[in-house]
Amino acid sequence: MYIVSACLFGENVKYSGGNNYHQGVIDFLKDKDILPVCPEVAGNLPVPRYPCERLGDKVINNQGEDVTEAFHEGARRCWETILNEWSQKDIEGAILKARSPSCGAGVIYDGTFQGVKIPGDGVFTELLKSKGIKVMTELDFDIDEV
Ligand code: SF4
Repeated sequence: MYIVSACLFGENVKYSGGNNYHQGVIDFLKDKDILPVCPEVAGNLPVPRYPCERLGDKVINNQGEDVTEAFHEGARRCWETILNEWSQKDIEGAILKARSPSCGAGVIYDGTFQGVKIPGDGVFTELLKSKGIKVMTELDFDIDEV
C-alpha cells in the first residue's frame, strides 16, 4: 500500500491549478493499492493558490502571508484519512512530489522564491517520516522523457 501525492496521479490540485502527472510513478503503482492525498487541499487552501515555500519553522506564500497552520492541519488530516483506510503496518511507503513545501523529501526551496534549493522536507513528509514511513519522490521513478 502506497500513499501518493494526488498531483503526481494527475489530479489538478497543484498551486497553479494543474497537476504533475508522472508516468514512471503511475507505472510503478499500477498493480498496487494506493491512496492519493493532497495535504494543501486537505488544509483548506484553494486551487489555484499562491505558491508557498518553507521559511524556517514557517510556511509563507509569495505574498508574504503565513500559511503555516493550514499546512500542518492539512498534513494531520491526511494522516487521519490514511489511518481510517489502512493499518499503519500495511503502508509500504509514500511517493510524494519533490521539492514541494508539503510533499518534498530531502530537498526543498529556501523561502526566498528565487528557486534556491536547500536540504529539508515538506511538512507532510516530515509527519510521515516521524511515523516511520519511507518517503520517495517522483525523481526515484524518472523514465526517459521526450
Ligand atoms: S501539496 Fe503535495 S499533493 Fe498537493 S499539489 Fe502540492 S505537491 Fe501535490
